[in-house]
Amino acid sequence: MLKIGLTGGIGAGKSTAAALFRARGVPVIDSDVVAREVVEPGQPALRALRERFGESVVKDGELDRAELARIAFVDAESTRALNDIMHPAIAQRTAELFAEQAGTGTVVHDVPLLAENSMEDDYDLVVVVDVPAEVRLQRLVQLRGMDEADARQRILRQASDDQRKSIADVVLDNSGTPEEFEEQFEEAFQSVIQPAARKARGSQPGR
Ligand code: ADP
Repeated sequence: MLKIGLTGGIGAGKSTAAALFRARGVPVIDSDVVAREVVEPGQPALRALRERFGESVVKDGELDRAELARIAFVDAESTRALNDIMHPAIAQRTAELFAEQAGTGTVVHDVPLLAENSMEDDYDLVVVVDVPAEVRLQRLVQLRGMDEADARQRILRQASDDQRKSIADVVLDNSGTPEEFEEQFEEAFQSVIQPAARKARGSQPGR
């Protein structure tokens, strides 16, 4: 299996790139979706959060994210406790999803904080969607209706564009039009991703 890590700063176009992969038959595991799934009602991680942080983090059987953030990010120890609950649950669910795709040639893992968490060695290829922070800010405010100060804060808390590019095997520039982006994607898909997938298949006897 060829494992591709897909990342980019908030608003860069990861979802856009993920859709282009899916349109070409490549399954995408979305780490944001996984992070939500593991705290759905009935999941062990939700129980563990309630035991550690108290009843107030669950409302009507569902996780109250704002309340959890308010309680869990006050000090380093609480933050560590939160991570100690979330990380193993996310890792386990992610491993299950990869295992379900065992017969598939290529799988994409969409991870917003791949660079921040130094996860590049987990993948055969890292694809970075790159857009200058100022353009991302504009898109987040104009197209996604985000508050400008909030969007700016989120961008500042993430890795810089250069840090992200330094771990990239493939950089897709999404500062132009969506059509230009798709052309570039197609070019990288044919010239880098498909050959790497063929090579990965060739190195697995019996596939
Ligand atoms: P991410 O998943 O990386 O946060 P999205 O794929 O959701 O980013 O893109 C952020 C916003 O920018 C969305 O509203 C999307 O429709 C828009 N967008 C993506 N690519 C372009 C582009 N090339 N030109 C203009 N808007 C774009």
